Amino acid sequence: ISTSGLVHIYRSQGHDVAALSGIGITVRPGEFVGLLGPSGAGKSTLLQLCGGLLTPSAGRLQIGEHNLTTMTEPELDRMRARDVGIVLQGAGRNLIPYLSPVDNVRYAQRAASRDRSLPAPEDVLDLVGLTDHARTPLPSLTPGQIQLCAVAVGIATFPGLLLADEPTSQLDHRARDEVLAAISTINTSTGMTVLLVTHDPDVAAVLPRTVTIRDGRIASEGRSGEEFAVV
Ligand code: ADP
Ligand code: ADP
Repeated sequence: ISTSGLVHIYRSQGHDVAALSGIGITVRPGEFVGLLGPSGAGKSTLLQLCGGLLTPSAGRLQIGEHNLTTMTEPELDRMRARDVGIVLQGAGRNLIPYLSPVDNVRYAQRAASRDRSLPAPEDVLDLVGLTDHARTPLPSLTPGQIQLCAVAVGIATFPGLLLADEPTSQLDHRARDEVLAAISTINTSTGMTVLLVTHDPDVAAVLPRTVTIRDGRIASEGRSGEEFAVV
């Protein structure tokens, strides 16, 4: 991910809301970066821009080989389906409740692309630690296991980039640590780049690098739990 002067303005009931007012960050391939900041800072907006779900109002945004400022809708569709995985807060909003974990992963792979080799669904579940529950009906899984399944579906095509928006915020501490460990394993064992939004200081403390945004601007950056103001 490489951005400079990234601006996003929402038009809301006739007036403009500047959600991002000039963001410049670089995330190298294989990095695991936490995005912190108060509610309303612009974190979700930045994530949605990186996922091609919103179009920048101004500035530069590059995701891998894609320049998102100049991409057409069909190109964005392709990028969304192949190159970016998304996991959201709340267990399992991207899941089909009447399919087992392994069938959810299969379904996500089928919906995504046919023009390159995909990992075996069992290997995807193995990566998040759900091998023993590959065929357990979703309603019988714990909230933590359902969120692990949501992560598996997010990475079903092994995209180069995983975007996670508060993926642990509605979980108890044990489930939170399991989901975080699964995302860490994905990052270290496949080299997938991860951008993860969190407001949980315990989560932020274990991330290798953090970026804090406030009022649509970068306020501070840090490594291994220590933050430094950006002037
Ligand atoms: P979070 O703080 O977890 O990012 P929010 O509660 O701010 O989530 O936003 C939830 C949803 O409401 C998002 O889809 C966001 O785009 C939308 N939203 C947030 N603020 C506004 C607003 N002022 N007008 C319209 N939609 C909004
Ligand atoms: P965060 O994820 O850090 O809570 P957001 O990116 O959701 O922040 O929101 C940043 C700002 O943009 C907030 O002021 C929010 O109210 C506003 N906003 C978010 N989504 C919308 C929307 N769909 N329409 C209008 N304003 C929005």
